[in-house]
Amino acid sequence: MALVTIVSAACPSPEDANDDGIVETSHLRITTTEDEPICKGTGPFLQRELERISATLELPLWSPDDKLEVRLGFGAVEELCSAHDPDVINGCADLDGKAIASKGVLYSTPHELAHAVRIWNGPLVPRMFEEGLAEILSGSDGYPWYVQFPRGMGWPTPAELLAVPPEEFDLTEYIPSQSFLSWLWLTYGRDQLMALANDPRLADGDPATLFEEHYGFSLADANQGWVDEDGPDPVWGAPCLPEQTFTLDGVFEIDGVLDCADPEVIGATISMSAPPMCLVVPQNTRTRITFEADHGYLSIVEREGCDPGPTSAEATRDKFLDAGETIEQDIAGCRYRMVLASQEPGFPPTEWSIRIEEIAG
Ligand SMILES: [Zn+2]
Repeated sequence: MALVTIVSAACPSPEDANDDGIVETSHLRITTTEDEPICKGTGPFLQRELERISATLELPLWSPDDKLEVRLGFGAVEELCSAHDPDVINGCADLDGKAIASKGVLYSTPHELAHAVRIWNGPLVPRMFEEGLAEILSGSDGYPWYVQFPRGMGWPTPAELLAVPPEEFDLTEYIPSQSFLSWLWLTYGRDQLMALANDPRLADGDPATLFEEHYGFSLADANQGWVDEDGPDPVWGAPCLPEQTFTLDGVFEIDGVLDCADPEVIGATISMSAPPMCLVVPQNTRTRITFEADHGYLSIVEREGCDPGPTSAEATRDKFLDAGETIEQDIAGCRYRMVLASQEPGFPPTEWSIRIEEIAG
């Protein structure tokens, strides 16, 4: 039996979290158009993400005197991203490199941060590179980004992706773009990909010629290697943090306080969320899962490759519990991400507990 208690390290009163709505870090000025506080972990998380993204792209950050405006919320996207339908997109980066807007904190804001770092450092290059890199970089440790290889499916070739005009480059092109760039990165290394993506000639030059100059083989050959790739699908960011990974051994119990004033809690728009957790279920079993809290929800989702052997359809289904709910379900012997979050207006704090107990099938 495992029993873990997370003691909230938050000291400030809730009023400190509900400040004037502006959070500054060394390189960011963060606001939200939603009627929610910016949770204490949001600024440090986005600053860390910015530094990770800048280092990965091999591009420097701006001076702390020139803070990037990070505008969070649906209203911010409506306002800044007026060239697009705000119902369709999650965010955008201003082309002067001074502001980004995003509906949520996780994934979509790091995506726009990647655009901001690249815009700051030079002209935009073909969207296959800009969007492919932003998608890959939106994942980080604890917040994995899952990418698929084409495996012979009839996806657009890199040459076709490069031929799409920027204004027509659509969400449907993101999937093959991030997949092809992932393949290049994992097969030939990050440095070589960044050397090409950061080549100033790429903005106006012929991308196929520049590709061949950097890689020593043609785009058509690269397409063939990508389509034929039979290695595991890429995951960007470690799905599970070791210190937040627990194993089900009869009974698993954990409790804590979800508090917007906690330095680990992230949120500013739709929801506030606790640091991500993982649960290892050693074998197929049946469980009673109880989630106690004043508000919020718990999701237990499995996205990784896992071969649990014969089991019920229920066992492999994602599990969602609202505060106060108990369910009895089969669960497959796999590793799961556990997401604990709340959309309660105003993000009031709540104590919570999770109990997962193996029961007779
Ligand atoms: Zn983008």
